[in-house]
This record gives sequence, C-alpha cells and structure tokens, in this order.
Amino acid sequence: MTSFTGQRLAGLIARRTGQPSLGHDAAVVGRVLPFKVSAHVADELVDWSRAPDDPLYRLVMPHRDMLAPPDFAAVEAALRSGDRVRLRLVVDGLRERLNPHPGGQLHLNVPEGGWGLQHKYPETLLVFPRQGQTCHGYCAYCFRWPQFTGDPARRQAVDGPGVMTGHLARHPEVTDVLLTGGDPLVMRTELLDAYVAPLLDLPQVRTVRIGTKAVSFQPERFLTAPDADDLLRLFERVVASGRHLALMLHVSHPRELHPEPARRALRRLRGTGAVLRTQAPVVRHVNDDAGVWAAMWQEQVELGLVPYYMFVERDTGPRRYFGLPLARALAVHADATRRVSGLGRTARGPVMSTELGKLVLDGIAHLPEGPAFTLRALQARDPALVGTLAHARLDPAAQWWDELVPYGPRDQTLIPGKPLTLEGVVG
Ligand code: SF4
Repeated sequence: MTSFTGQRLAGLIARRTGQPSLGHDAAVVGRVLPFKVSAHVADELVDWSRAPDDPLYRLVMPHRDMLAPPDFAAVEAALRSGDRVRLRLVVDGLRERLNPHPGGQLHLNVPEGGWGLQHKYPETLLVFPRQGQTCHGYCAYCFRWPQFTGDPARRQAVDGPGVMTGHLARHPEVTDVLLTGGDPLVMRTELLDAYVAPLLDLPQVRTVRIGTKAVSFQPERFLTAPDADDLLRLFERVVASGRHLALMLHVSHPRELHPEPARRALRRLRGTGAVLRTQAPVVRHVNDDAGVWAAMWQEQVELGLVPYYMFVERDTGPRRYFGLPLARALAVHADATRRVSGLGRTARGPVMSTELGKLVLDGIAHLPEGPAFTLRALQARDPALVGTLAHARLDPAAQWWDELVPYGPRDQTLIPGKPLTLEGVVG
C-alpha cells in the first residue's frame, strides 16, 4: 500500500501545495519527528487547496513551528553541511529533549521481564506487538512518536505472544488486554491472530481492546486487503467467545469518517459485533473548536460509534505546536457537550494520562480562596484513588497537571467522606 515518508513526502507537499518552502520545512522537521502519509490520506482527506491551514493537512504534515526556531535552524544547518555525523548528533540530542517517554512510561509501567508490555492499572495490560509498531500513517502530534524513529532503544515491543501470556499467568487480576502500538492492524491477520487466539483460552480475559486509526488512514484494510475477510472473521470469533471486543478508533476530525471507503469499513466492523469507541486528543490547528467536536460526536453516534475520550496533548514531541491550555481544552469539551444530546455526551474529558493515572478536568469550582480547576481521578495506579477529587488554583496558561498548584487539603473534600490525598495527584 502506497505511503509517503521523508523526501517523497517533502516532494508531495511541494508539488500539491505549489509551495516549495513547505516541502523544505517538511524535509527538515521530518529528520527529527517521524511522518508518514498514506495515499488514502493524501487523496481523500487532505484539502490541498487550503494547505497549510486545512486541519487535515495539519493533522499529518510536518510544519516548521513544530521545532523551536533555534532547533529548526540547527537541523537545517546540519543538513546543509552534508555532515552525517553532525546531523545525527543534532537529531539525537533534540529527540531526547522532546521527552520521548512521558508519564514515566518506561520506569513505572513496564513490568519485570516484560519489555513491550505496560501494566499500569491492575485490571488492564497493554501489549505492544513488535510487528504492530508502525501505523498506516502518522498523526503529527503522536505521543508514541519514538516508536517510529527506528531506534530500538526508544521502541517498546514484545517479540511474541509468549511474553504476554506468561505475564497473564502471573497476574490473574488482569481482565482487559489492549493490543496497541503503533497500530496493531498494520499486522497481517495471521500475526494478529497469534496474539488474540491465546487470549480466548484464558477465562480471566473478558475484554480485548485493539487501538487503531486504520478506518481513517487505511480503510482498505477492512475492504480489499488480501486478508480483510480473515480479520473480520477473527473479530467475530472474539465476540462469539462471549468476550467484549472493543475497537478503539482514533478519530481527530469529523472529515476522517466522510469518505465512502471509511463508511463501508465501519459497516463491516459493526457487523462483527465489535463495539467501536472513539478517542483523540484536543489539539491546536486540528480540532480546538467545540463545533468540530460536537459535529464529530453527533456523526459518530449516527454511525453507531461510542465517543469515549477527549485527551489532553501529552508533554512530548511537538507539544509546543499542538498543545492547548487546560482551560481552553475544558471550554472546548464543555461547549461541545452542550451542543449534543445525551447519546453524544459519552466522551470523558479533557483527560490527562499522567504518572499516577487518568485525571479528568471536571470543571471550575469557585472556592472561598478563588477559582479552581476540579480534577477527578478516573483511573489510578492505586485503585483507592479512583473517583477522588482535587482542586488546583485556576492557572489559565497551565497545559499539564504538574504545572498546577493545589489548594490545601481542607479544600479537597468535595465528596463527603472521601478526602483526596492529592499531594500525590497534584503538586
Ligand atoms: S494512530 Fe496513534 S500511534 Fe499511530 S500515529 Fe496516530 S496517534 Fe500515533
């Protein structure tokens, strides 16, 4: 299947936009952050006549502002020098500064002997199959970008299902297994089957989740790929086993689901009995608009999908370009929620995936001390913290939980009898 990366992508951008400078910028930024665009995205999703401001263009294409100006200049100069060692040093140093593994993913989530697994919450195990550590195309804001840089030290990957089943045997508390990446649906069905089939022999596993953006970026995966039918049969087997099969569709903008192939793919997937849930971060330049989210949730409900999460962009990679103040993310979520009926209000958010767990920004409270963000622990390493609340001073510029200043413990008891030990959550 055709896709564009590196110089080919830079050439495509220059040709289709008629702006060679955009192609040049892409060639520079693309040395640091990974970019890949499928033919489907280039031909069906991007509106080249509105580039570079088209949100679908922004979703997938490199832009010079993704790097700080001195960093952009350093990469550009290293490229111009033709000195490959210098270029490598500049790029490696820069990648390290872009916080490749936010949220303590490597030192906190990877279980002993389980490189390629993440076991953050007692009931849920994340599995990163080696052959699934790429995507049909890359989102420019991707928080998993280190998976795609070609550096094995930065890439989380498990060699085969044995590591996963071994861990499950030692952890009977795991009920949910999430196959993730990258995008596990880049794998041939046969390979995916090797991970899924053993789960169906384990009574403890009740839910199989698969994270994917294939409906948006490569709907042919479910239609005309040589093993598309086998994939659907595999999904049917999971459902027939009595388990919940959740396809976690990454959808950032309503236009992603407009092309007819995407609609046909959704119809086929729904026919398997899988539950299709949607999630995406709210990011500048792409979807920081309540009208966009409201339209997206409404259309998703009509298509039989369940809006699940609106995330906050993580502190990694090009957050300087895509990140939003928490106050803005909260306003987008609240306003979008007001514009849809109850069936479209199922997306929790804005949610931050932090070292401690998933924190949702519930709203703004007016305390005697002043206005405050109300945070709630949706998910936590320590299950005792789930559902607890915290208040932090309303900081209109803050973009992440660790920038917030908590109010004192006496203010953190919105739920009677459930004081939150938020010294651990905020601060
Ligand atoms: S689909 Fe997910 S993992 Fe793949 S590039 Fe987009 S955000 Fe990253």
